[in-house]
Amino acid sequence: MDTTIDVKAFAPSGATNGYRDIHRKIKYESELNKGFKNRVAELSHGEKLYSCIQCGTCSAACPVSHYMDYTPRKIIQMVREGFKSEVLSSSTVWLCASCYACTQECPKGIKITDVMYALKREAISGGIYPKRFPSAVLAGSFFKQVLSFGRNSEGPLLLKMYMKTNPLMLFKNMKLGFKLWKTGRLSLKTEKTCKKGDLKKLLSDIDKQREEVTL
Ligand code: SF4
Ligand code: SF4
Repeated sequence: MDTTIDVKAFAPSGATNGYRDIHRKIKYESELNKGFKNRVAELSHGEKLYSCIQCGTCSAACPVSHYMDYTPRKIIQMVREGFKSEVLSSSTVWLCASCYACTQECPKGIKITDVMYALKREAISGGIYPKRFPSAVLAGSFFKQVLSFGRNSEGPLLLKMYMKTNPLMLFKNMKLGFKLWKTGRLSLKTEKTCKKGDLKKLLSDIDKQREEVTL
């Protein structure tokens, strides 16, 4: 929720000395995305997220919450309040290991794991995710690859992930990659299905049907 504002813009004319960029830690209500919670609820069949009582059980049950920038409890509240860009660009969504502990323990039956999946999908389709974060880049590249070719190809996928996140890691793991390639465990070929357009059509039909159902 860090927003930079240029206070020079508000300075009296000619009075620039002493004015500098500052960060404000609050977000004005007019900047919130009020429809965000409905979109997330619709994607995750998660209307129950409106009934969160902010008890924090999900955060306590989550094995990786101490690595997250916002705990699951905070994410649910931020979704409800409309902090769309903060939620989608957070590491939380990508650190979620889909273990379902939070969903299991939530006293209000909120499907928090499904909410996390919905947020991942929104982040990828909107291109709003931590840009050099491996799991976010991997998920986005995997989705695009399967959509274009109908299949996943591990070699090209790994290459893309390393190039977009940390090219040095590519050199570090090159020896292992070579061994896997030599034994036939890793291919650099891009695999394709014979009718690669079919999957794209199928997915777009599902999207259309879902939109019709929610209208
Ligand atoms: S456990 Fe459920 S009710 Fe409690 S904070 Fe988490 S989502 Fe909200
Ligand atoms: S599903 Fe994700 S958010 Fe929930 S407890 Fe597991 S890692 Fe944490």
